[in-house]
Amino acid sequence: MKAHYCLFCGTPYSEETLSSYEEHHKLDCHKCSRTWYNNPKPVVLAYIVNDEGKILLGKRGIEPLKGSWGMPGGFIEYGEEPYESILREIREELSVEGEVAEVLDSFHEFYDNLGDPTQRSSTTGVVFRCHLPKAPLRAADDVADLAWHTPSEVKQLVKFEGQKRFLSKRSSGDKFI
Ligand SMILES: [Zn+2]
Repeated sequence: MKAHYCLFCGTPYSEETLSSYEEHHKLDCHKCSRTWYNNPKPVVLAYIVNDEGKILLGKRGIEPLKGSWGMPGGFIEYGEEPYESILREIREELSVEGEVAEVLDSFHEFYDNLGDPTQRSSTTGVVFRCHLPKAPLRAADDVADLAWHTPSEVKQLVKFEGQKRFLSKRSSGDKFI
C-alpha cells in the first residue's frame, strides 16, 4: 500500500520519493527524516482437517475476493501473540473455542486491496494446525458460510495464491493430511 503523505508528520512526500516507491517499497520524508517501510503484515490461518481428510474453509463475506473460499483467519492485531490471534479468529468466525496443535508453515501472499494493484499489501501468512470441539459451527464476522472440502474442490474455490500453494503441499490423493 502506497501512502502519499508522511504517516509520522503528515507532510506530502516529494515526487522523487513517490516515483522511487515501486522499486524500493519505502518512503523517505524530507521534512522529519523518518522512513516508512511497506513491510509485510502478519496474518494467521487455521488448518482444520476432519476425520475424512476434508478441510474447513470459510466463504468470504467481504472484499477483496468476496465469495471466494479460504482458511479461517485474519490479521494479527496490535500487541497480540500469534496463537492468541488465531484463537480469537476461530472464536469470531466459527463461533467455537478452538485449540492450537502446532505451527505448520508460513508463506508470502499479496493481499489485493479492492483490485487496485498499486495499493496491494504484502502479507506473511502463518498457518496453525487447530482442533475444534464437537460443537456446531456458525459462520460469523466477515465469513458468510462454512463447509468441509476435498483437495480437488479446494483447487476451484480458493483464489489466494499463497493459500493455494500451501494447500496443494498439504494434500495427498484426495485427502488433506
Ligand atoms: Zn515526515
